[in-house]
Amino acid sequence: MTQTVTPPTVPASCDFTVFGGTGDLALRKLLPALYLRELEGQLPDDTRIIGVSRAELDDDGYRTAVRVALTSYVAADDLDDAAVDRLLGRLHHLMLDVEHPDDWYRLHDLLKDRPGSHETVRVFYLAVGPSLFGSICRNLDQIGAVNELARVVLEKPIGHDLASARAVNDAVGAVFTEPQIFRIDHYLGKESVQNLLVTRFANTFLEPMWNSHWVDHVQITVAESLGVGDRGGYYDHSGALRDMVQNHLLQLLCLVAMEPPSHIGRETVRDEKLKVLEALKPMTPSDVDRDTVRGRYTAGLVDGAAVPSYSQDLGYTGSSTETFVALRTEVQNWRWAGVPFYLRTGKRMDRRASEIVVVFKQPPHAMFPHSEGTTEPNRLHIQVQPDEGMRLHLTAKEPGPGGIRLRPVSLDLSYATAFEQRLPDAYERLLMDVIRGNPTLFMRRDEVEAAWSWVEPILTRWATSPDRPKRYPAGTSGPTAAATLLERDGRTWQETDR
Ligand code: NAD
Repeated sequence: MTQTVTPPTVPASCDFTVFGGTGDLALRKLLPALYLRELEGQLPDDTRIIGVSRAELDDDGYRTAVRVALTSYVAADDLDDAAVDRLLGRLHHLMLDVEHPDDWYRLHDLLKDRPGSHETVRVFYLAVGPSLFGSICRNLDQIGAVNELARVVLEKPIGHDLASARAVNDAVGAVFTEPQIFRIDHYLGKESVQNLLVTRFANTFLEPMWNSHWVDHVQITVAESLGVGDRGGYYDHSGALRDMVQNHLLQLLCLVAMEPPSHIGRETVRDEKLKVLEALKPMTPSDVDRDTVRGRYTAGLVDGAAVPSYSQDLGYTGSSTETFVALRTEVQNWRWAGVPFYLRTGKRMDRRASEIVVVFKQPPHAMFPHSEGTTEPNRLHIQVQPDEGMRLHLTAKEPGPGGIRLRPVSLDLSYATAFEQRLPDAYERLLMDVIRGNPTLFMRRDEVEAAWSWVEPILTRWATSPDRPKRYPAGTSGPTAAATLLERDGRTWQETDR
């Protein structure tokens, strides 16, 4: 029997405003996600989608741009003429420079210009740089757009460090209450990530083993094969620690390590995640030197094609920004005492994969003759992307007479084959959660700031250390020091086995 948790109800009407409506994020992710929800008939009937940008476009020009984007970013099988027309019919575009106070009347007039506007959910999605968040919120307040049904969605990065994250949160919090603020981490909208919670808490067999008695260590990898491309200017001020570890990797770690909440509620999951962040072992300068590795890609081969170095991508030399991080940490609580969590992320690696591997301890006694060295520890391998799924690695008897030979085998849950349906993109789920007002899968202010508090000593130490990021050729699994980080503990990175 399928069990469902009833989602909060979809409102009758919604004005969904996207600041940065002509940008890459809006056209590549947000509008395709809204279209796919339109296709499923999930958008409130009375929905308007308002793109705000500096582009000189009228409504029809915007519809043309969005039609092209849908054709590019939605699978051909999912393009339905009637649904495309319905979505395009909802679109408006406002040319509005958010830094020009005189432009804001345009949004004021459009929002006001609908019957029953006080019953309409207003979503303000800030798909622009965080330096604009504060002024957008102030202006929204000044034009009277922020009512009880208003909510704001913040894209990463939320700050550059703890102080700037607090400043962003203060500026947004001066206008919106915390329950109205949806800080998005799209990893939390992925099916496999939500399934991690279901696997842990809707089954009985794993939970008794999900602790330091049975788990040897945990690895979390987010590897990208792409380089920084034309986003080098942004990236060079950020780096892998800020861009990936502070948010995505720590969020994944929280879901692996958190205690079971009493129920899946809007605050309960976030309360438990916060406790994990607060239990992370603080990094002293010597911990940073010993337990973190930063790297930077040089020219190399990715999928057989020659690719340039990070400096060549940037167009200048002398940067000390890292494009790769590996680190070791621990969650200092009763459940996880002494269990290392190894995190690693990088650009221009040998593959594109996000995965969590929980490595269990070896059986206490090797009772099968001739099996020494042939057994591998049980591993639960959760593939977040691509090919979302889960694989449990076991040891089995190799068939045949003449004694018992052991062989590693796996139980495989591929989402695509097990459920034979299109897996919704994370943004589809998350945008509907915003419209319905369900913040469970969004980051609360205290979580974001706790993550920055933990990351900051690493940034500080790196800034003062004479060491530079270690080089690794593009198309590899990172600098050799990342392998050494685990070898020192008698372990190795689990490379993908798909
Ligand atoms: P982009 O440069 O492609 O687009 C920026 C958009 O913002 C454009 O529509 C532009 O007209 C608008 N804009 C900029 N300044 C404005 C102003 N003063 N007034 C009104 N509109 C203005 O950027 P993007 O890739 O879409 O990213 C937007 C934000 O989202 C960035 O902060 C980025 O870090 C973040 N983000 C992007 C992605 C992604 O996949 N592109 C993913 C996560 C987070």
